[in-house]
Amino acid sequence: MRAGSVPAFGEKIVVGDHPVPTPGPNQALVRVLTTGVCHTDLHAVDGDWPVKPSPPFIPGHEGVGTVEAIGSDVVELAVGDLVGNAWLWSACGRCEFCRTGWETLCESQENGGYSVDGSFGEYMLVDARYAAKVPAGSDPVEVAPVLCAGVTVYKALKLTNVLPGQWVVISGIGGLGHIAVQYAVAMGMRVAAVDIAEDKLALAKKHGAEVVVNAKDGDPVAAVQEATGGSHGVLVTAVHPAAFGQAIGMTRRGGTIVFNGLPPGDFPAPIFDIVLKGLTIRGSIVGTRQDMIEALEFYARGQIKPTVQERSLDEVNEVLDEMRAGKIDGRVVLRLSEG
Ligand code: NAD
Ligand code: ZN
Ligand code: ZN
Repeated sequence: MRAGSVPAFGEKIVVGDHPVPTPGPNQALVRVLTTGVCHTDLHAVDGDWPVKPSPPFIPGHEGVGTVEAIGSDVVELAVGDLVGNAWLWSACGRCEFCRTGWETLCESQENGGYSVDGSFGEYMLVDARYAAKVPAGSDPVEVAPVLCAGVTVYKALKLTNVLPGQWVVISGIGGLGHIAVQYAVAMGMRVAAVDIAEDKLALAKKHGAEVVVNAKDGDPVAAVQEATGGSHGVLVTAVHPAAFGQAIGMTRRGGTIVFNGLPPGDFPAPIFDIVLKGLTIRGSIVGTRQDMIEALEFYARGQIKPTVQERSLDEVNEVLDEMRAGKIDGRVVLRLSEG
């Protein structure tokens, strides 16, 4: 099969011939139709996170495809099903985190396109117990970004504790953020969008943001405070550490800040403000299988519609360069095969 793999950190993805994998127990072989390209794939290629994958590996964790074969013990999937791989490729199912509905925190989890080969190829393996079931009738190009970007921001928005009618700031209007605007609107929240690029802010407006702030022009904290009186919640998907510090200043007393973005680095956090304003700052990593079901149902009901641009696997390195330069509107989805 043709697949794109990372030979070494910082090098270009090489598209070449790879053996079609064989499904083991609880696994299914999937013919990949499409895959989204997440900024996490770029972190994987660069090897810029503290926990690294082992090259060579095939990235990709927003893959959509049809089940071609199943291994032993599979009960959840059948040949022909439309499924997706995900960052939470599998978890142990037995630890305290798995037992208490926090499988996303399982220390024995496998991650699609990171610790196991992902969806940048014509075939991939999924763990049938953890693979996403993609609703029938989904457009395989449009639905792909829901598998990571969608479920991640959907879960994070729930964790902001923002109620209908209250303000949420979405900081970073890329692949994650432009879908976050749509979930937030669908959940009844009032949205203020922050980015450093005007075209991203235009996209946020199109998807229902009431307020847009360009963090490159003047002080974004003052602009958000003026427009919202302080936001009840802030969701940071931005890929620059500066946005994380600014989020604290944008939040109303008693509010919650949720971090999704994972740029390498740190940011200064003002202890006095956090304590006196009673702020909650929390991280959030993707979502559980149940979050995935719900996130996909929003798509199936037409409540969210990712902005996508279809490209081919051969263009993957150009796509990553465009992502690095912040030039992608919404999400790029690679077409692996027709169907
Ligand atoms: P993306 O490249 O599509 O979008 C990033 C956006 O951040 C761009 O619109 C860019 O203009 C904006 N940005 C850059 N600097 C900014 C600043 N100072 N202020 C405001 N906005 C700024 O990336 P993506 O695919 O949306 O991923 C975003 C981040 O989230 C990545 O670090 C990725 O690894 C991470 N991620 C986390 C999870 C999770 O579960 N926590 C899941 C998926 C992705
Ligand atoms: Zn991702
Ligand atoms: Zn576990």
